[in-house]
Amino acid sequence: MIVVSEKTIARLVQYRRLLHQLAARGVASVHSHELAALAQVSAAQVRRDFMALIAAGTPMHGYDVAALLEALRAFLDAPEGQAAALVGIGNLGKAILTYFAGRRPKLVIAAAFDIDPAKVHRLFRSVPCYPVEELPARVRELGIRLGIITVPAAAAQAAADQLIRAGVRGLVNFAPVPLQAPEGVFVEDIDIAMSLEKVAFFARSDRAAEPARGGRRPAPRLHAAAV
Ligand code: NAD
Repeated sequence: MIVVSEKTIARLVQYRRLLHQLAARGVASVHSHELAALAQVSAAQVRRDFMALIAAGTPMHGYDVAALLEALRAFLDAPEGQAAALVGIGNLGKAILTYFAGRRPKLVIAAAFDIDPAKVHRLFRSVPCYPVEELPARVRELGIRLGIITVPAAAAQAAADQLIRAGVRGLVNFAPVPLQAPEGVFVEDIDIAMSLEKVAFFARSDRAAEPARGGRRPAPRLHAAAV
C-alpha cells in the first residue's frame, strides 16, 4: 500500500477539481506549469505528485486531461463507492444534503441522524433520517466509515464518539469545536466563521493587495491565456 501524505491528497483533490473545469472547457492536454499556476504550487510539485502515483502523460508533451482524470479517479475513489452518515439535520445539515443530492455517485450520504422527533423517520433529499439511538446499528449495517457532524458545538464530541465506536474512520466536523479522536481516525474541521474572520482581516484597508503580508499570490483565473 502506498503511503501518501494529507497534503498530497489535498493537492490531488484540488488538481482533479481544476482538471474537471478544464475538461468542461474542452481543454485536452495541460502542462505541469499550467496546472501549477492554477493550483498555486510549483510545476516541480505537480510533476512529483503525478510521477509518484500516476503514469498518465509526459511532462514534455503535457498531460492528457482525460487520462489524468481517470488515473486520479482510480487512485482517489473507492471502486465500490463510499457511504457517509450525517448527524444533525438542521440548517447546515439540510444544506449539505441538498448540495450532495445526486452529485457524487461514488460518495453518497446514506443515512442521517437527529434527536428531534419531528425530523426522524422522514426522508430529506431522499436520505432517511433515523433517531440518533439507531446510529450504531445503522452505521454498522450500512458499512459507513465517513461521518459529517452538523450538530451544535455542545453535542459534537458525543456525536463523534458514537460514530467512531460504530466504525467511522473519517469525520468532517462543521461544529466550531475541536474534536478529540483516536489515532487512525482522520478529522477535518471546517470552520466558516474562522475563515471569514481571516479573510475579513485581509480585506481591511490595503492588506489584501500586499502579497508579502497576505501570504498568497493572487489566484490565476481559469480563462488565463496560459491554460
Ligand atoms: P441547527 O440548530 O439548525 O441544527 C442542529 C441540528 O442538530 C438540529 O436538527 C438538532 O435537532 C440536531 N441535534 C442537536 N443535538 C443533537 C445530537 N446530540 N444528536 C443528533 N442531532 C442533534 O444548527 P445549524 O445552523 O445547522 O448548525 C449546525 C452546526 O454547524 C453548529 O455547530 C454550527 O455552529 C455549525 N455551523 C453552522 C453554519 C450555518 O451556516 N448554519 C455554518 C457553519 C457552521
